[in-house]
Amino acid sequence: MTSGRRVLITGAGVAGPAAAYWLARAGFEVTVVERAPHLREGGQSVDVRSTAREVIRRMGLEQAVREHNTGEVGTRFVDESGATVSEFPVRAGSTTDGPTAELEILRGTLARILADACPGSVNWRYGDRITAVTQDDQAAYVEFAGGPRERFDLVVVAEGVGSATRRLVFGDETREHTLGMYVAYGTIEREPNDDDWWRFLVTAGARQITLRPDDVGSMRATLSFRVDEPVLAELDPYATRRQLCRRFADLGWEVPRILDGFEATDDLHVDWLRQVHSPSWHRGRICLLGDAAWCVTPIAGGGTSLALIGAYVLAAYLSRSGDGGYEQALTGYETWMRPLVDKAQKLPPGVPRIAAPRSRAGVRLLRWGTKVAAAPLVQNFSSRLTVGPSAQQPLPPWAGKPLQE
Ligand SMILES: Cc1cc2nc3c(=O)[nH]c(=O)nc-3n(C[C@H](O)[C@H](O)[C@H](O)COP(=O)(O)OP(=O)(O)OC[C@H]3O[C@@H](n4cnc5c(N)ncnc54)[C@H](O)[C@@H]3O)c2cc1C
Repeated sequence: MTSGRRVLITGAGVAGPAAAYWLARAGFEVTVVERAPHLREGGQSVDVRSTAREVIRRMGLEQAVREHNTGEVGTRFVDESGATVSEFPVRAGSTTDGPTAELEILRGTLARILADACPGSVNWRYGDRITAVTQDDQAAYVEFAGGPRERFDLVVVAEGVGSATRRLVFGDETREHTLGMYVAYGTIEREPNDDDWWRFLVTAGARQITLRPDDVGSMRATLSFRVDEPVLAELDPYATRRQLCRRFADLGWEVPRILDGFEATDDLHVDWLRQVHSPSWHRGRICLLGDAAWCVTPIAGGGTSLALIGAYVLAAYLSRSGDGGYEQALTGYETWMRPLVDKAQKLPPGVPRIAAPRSRAGVRLLRWGTKVAAAPLVQNFSSRLTVGPSAQQPLPPWAGKPLQE
């Protein structure tokens, strides 16, 4: 397999721009194709933990990420009246974070920071997508919805959990394992009584409601529920909102306000949670990265950190591939990332069932569990459960343009 330097990255979420940054620094000629007409700046708080912090530091972006911290001061479990059940404050400067990380940033802001950090040589192609891709020993040949067929030496698929190109290339080899849970994310107005805690209500009927601050003066809310079938699939935004109202209308606390807010916002994003399992992340010169390769879901957490780490690791191996072809580099990337991903995808037994119980007894038990976990002595231990993807091995060495250390 020859190793020219022309790379196509498909998907400009978090993994795509991060890979574009690193591959351009490694001397590749990079094109990014994104099906949306512009960078998608939606989404709520995501956290940058453990090894991903090191990657962000090597990009010289730690300060920029810190400057856009959402200002969240910690996570607070509440009951239906809003009273505190238990709380986990941010542990500034600690090596392990609690449920709220020290580096919390809006997903869209992070995507923008990463895209803006890319060298000017990166070619951004918005409003287009791959319709067909073939490959031989010499190259990959890509057909686009909006342009002629082009030749690339490498294709990096970073299209997120529902990746269409992954299906084109990997077919049934990749499995989507559904967790039987929906999360509806939306932005609503901030009110004078709002504080900077991530407030978390778990209530009977297998439902969770959350409300958290952002750094742009609004609040970010979620409504989650467990259900066996993807009941919101194929629904238009109007019908989706009706379903959410039907499922949450009996609740008090901040729920009526969140439902009203979801009526008014354009920024409503619904996710049917599923993990992606793929026995291999590359086929020839086409490789998977980020959620497209290994989506862990927000329940497992760490998806953004894994995307950042994966982008660096992929580019580090490719930066050293020389004329030896890509096979070795792609295998190296996969071997390095696999243990981290396997660990992140492992959910504690019974999750998400015990995190969103149907019965009142189950809710009482869960609240008791959070109280125990919040006790000062236990918090040191329980924060290790939320440490994020932490590699047991050093990041692979870099052979591209010098790093900003
Ligand atoms: C709009 C949006 C909001 C999100 N909100 C949250 C959130 O609030 N909390 C959370 O934990 N996670 C959220 N996520 C998921 C989170 O970004 C990822 O889990 C994680 O950051 C890994 O990123 P990724 O780049 O692999 O995937 P993603 O961030 O999902 O990015 C994938 C990108 O690929 C693009 N794309 C998809 N199909 C194609 C195609 N065929 N051709 C070209 N481009 C394509 C998408 O438009 C998107 O820009 C959100 C994702 C999106 C797209």
